[in-house]
Amino acid sequence: MGKLFGTDGVRGIINEELTPELALRLGMAIGTYFGEGSKILIGRDIRAGGEMIKAAVIAGLLSSGVKVYDAGLTPTPALQYVVKTMDFDGGVMITASHNPSKYNGIKVISSYGIEVPREDERKIEEIFFEQRFRRAHWTALIHDVKPYPYVNDIYVKAVVDKVDKELIRKKEFRIVIDPANSVGALTSPRIAKELGVKVYTVNGHLDPTFPGREPEPIPEHLTETSKAVLSINADFGVAHDGDADRAIFIDDKGRVQWGDRTATLLAKYLAIKHPEFPKKVYTAVSSSTVIEDVLKPLGIEVVWLKVGSVDISWTMERNKDALCGFEENGGFMYPPHQLVRDGGMTLALMLELLASENKKLSELYDELPQYHLIKTKIPMSRDKALKVVERVKEHFKGYRQITIDGVKVISNDFWVLVRPSGTEPLLRIMLEAKTEEKAKELLEIVKNIAEEVLKSS
Ligand code: MG
Repeated sequence: MGKLFGTDGVRGIINEELTPELALRLGMAIGTYFGEGSKILIGRDIRAGGEMIKAAVIAGLLSSGVKVYDAGLTPTPALQYVVKTMDFDGGVMITASHNPSKYNGIKVISSYGIEVPREDERKIEEIFFEQRFRRAHWTALIHDVKPYPYVNDIYVKAVVDKVDKELIRKKEFRIVIDPANSVGALTSPRIAKELGVKVYTVNGHLDPTFPGREPEPIPEHLTETSKAVLSINADFGVAHDGDADRAIFIDDKGRVQWGDRTATLLAKYLAIKHPEFPKKVYTAVSSSTVIEDVLKPLGIEVVWLKVGSVDISWTMERNKDALCGFEENGGFMYPPHQLVRDGGMTLALMLELLASENKKLSELYDELPQYHLIKTKIPMSRDKALKVVERVKEHFKGYRQITIDGVKVISNDFWVLVRPSGTEPLLRIMLEAKTEEKAKELLEIVKNIAEEVLKSS
């Protein structure tokens, strides 16, 4: 059986790997999976090829007898929110999220507003490869595609309604928003403006060539955005990825802050402000243990999961006991709104947090325990990577270990995560330590183990 879905939908280089033919057949498989008469909402980000892929998917959906509603240009979390709260059976989002500009992709959204679970991706793949397409009778093909241009409006209102507007308005914040020239530009500035915030945008016009920066909001891509934050003396900056489900913050000192540090601030704020909320935070093993340092004293348990936001979302949906969920890359999930990563909601929560404190954002980040972070990767086969994982377990015997995805070793003053990549022949290494020396020492240990494994046949 072939495989189409990666960790986050179907992705490929536009017109080379992700062709209209493939999109058409995938649309037929998705339509067959949802069933005749289902109401499906489809939207896209600004990427090149978006209209082409969307038209092909729509043709496939219609062929199977599905009723299609077109949301136009919209962030993934906006489409997800509307699928969840309005009368839709599912959704399709045309996006390659944070990937470089030559990529596009297709995500399938369940009626819960969460990407369909892994086992349902397999079902869609089976229909696709076995060509078990349902072809509707002509009498089911009488429906036109209906424009549904309300998604961004519904979403902006929903986000704004979930925070303390008056509290935020009083502060007269000034912020920089960098939506990476994509669909976050249609919603995040509006969210901030409705909260009385003065908004300056960087990379704020829609442009599929991504002239300002690559769509992945990582420090290397955000130097100009940081400069903008400093030059206008903003309270902070926020940068999204291509479909605006991720939000990475830049503090008032122009420092780009990782998503796990931001999530730690937000989770602590929510736990204190809402003592009635559940006491569990869900995240992947790739997040910093700083979250445990800060939340344990507040009686909040951190639940460590495999890497991948979809698994975090479905675990939260099943257990219904999450204060919040997050990924270290800037994906934050706020259950009273929805259980998926949501860049606009994260921005609104950050504004409320800052409005409730009489401190600068840089001070809040500086109050968190400081660690020295190293993230790296070593090319090797999955088999070898698994061997390295076993040897690392052996080396750190006696330490607390989480083995749900590779191995994460946790001590009082450091943690190390070693795991095979889910998508590429790579060993991923992430570690944090209280000092730079300790961090380098830990990296050496893991590198030596990896070298030994690579030498052995
Ligand atoms: Mg994304």
